[in-house]
Amino acid sequence: MSRFLKKIAGWFSYDIGIDLGTANTLVYIKDQGIVLREPSVVAMSGERVRAVGEDAKRMVGRTPGSVVAIRPLKDGVIADLNVAEEMLKYFIQKACARRSLRGPRILIAHPSGITEVERRAIEDSAEHSGAIAVRLIEEPMAAAIGVGLPYTEPIGSMIVDIGGGTTEVAIISLSGIVYSQSEKCGGDALDDTITRHMLAAHNLLVGPRTAEDIKIRVGSAHPLQQELQMEVKGRDRGTGLPKTVTVRSEEIREALKDKLDVIVSAVRQTLDHCPPELASDLYDRGIVVAGGGALLRGLADLLHEQTSLPITIADDPLSAVAEGTGKFLQENDDVFDEE
Ligand code: ADP
Ligand code: MG
Repeated sequence: MSRFLKKIAGWFSYDIGIDLGTANTLVYIKDQGIVLREPSVVAMSGERVRAVGEDAKRMVGRTPGSVVAIRPLKDGVIADLNVAEEMLKYFIQKACARRSLRGPRILIAHPSGITEVERRAIEDSAEHSGAIAVRLIEEPMAAAIGVGLPYTEPIGSMIVDIGGGTTEVAIISLSGIVYSQSEKCGGDALDDTITRHMLAAHNLLVGPRTAEDIKIRVGSAHPLQQELQMEVKGRDRGTGLPKTVTVRSEEIREALKDKLDVIVSAVRQTLDHCPPELASDLYDRGIVVAGGGALLRGLADLLHEQTSLPITIADDPLSAVAEGTGKFLQENDDVFDEE
């Protein structure tokens, strides 16, 4: 397309960025900001989609046996292509309903562990949703841009993105990923560990939402100035009856330790792979942490203790990737040019 035609096309279309996360999907409309933020969940009964996003999450664990909640990207790979496509289409249509004569041009941030086939599937899904052009960007790159790291400069920056299904660690310089590692250990793994702990230590059966609630309310990665406690309701495994127990932040921290060690090792291994010419940048500038997992209490203290580097938690860790897609669109007019 000529430059002139491209300009005309731009008047009739518009650009959006999507953070296709394992736990949450966000949509950013250029010049407007984040317009949609919903869980990456689809409720299905048989082959039929019953609900997507917030509505679907509300159904989890409270639905009749025939309705199952699916998280199509749960472990950072696409578990079910058709369901993933339905979800992406729903979010695109919801965010973009009747906005312009033509469909949007879409930049999608995806977990870096997916295969070529899965990348293609994401592109196809976006096209089926009416997109007139689709480009992909790796999640850690988008996160680095979103938190304001100097990604285009010849300076080494390190980003750690702790999502629901995965933790992505990357070193970025000159608009490229120098080294990255994706670990299937994120917020979900912490929740599962809490579920198992409640059963082993208190004989209490709790669902995934309660486990996440415990993590958010009293979870921590490092001793706290003031330790916390909360009441947890569940069902006694022996009697099957409702029961309430008090849990303390110390015991939850102990339970989370092994999973947090996996995250710490991923960070340390990535540091070991850092090219020597960028290492001094990392030592001066430290590590930025994004993704919902960055909100775990004491995480910065744990990472600092284990790496000796300065650690910064992103201002709004849950929005970093979506903000990054938006900023990338804003700063690069040629994102959708044909190669
Ligand atoms: P993804 O990019 O995989 O969609 P997100 O970046 O949206 O993931 O993060 C979701 C994860 O963050 C979930 O596991 C959620 O439990 C966790 N999370 C959200 N808030 C907190 C908090 N305050 N403390 C600890 N974990 C949190
Ligand atoms: Mg994410």
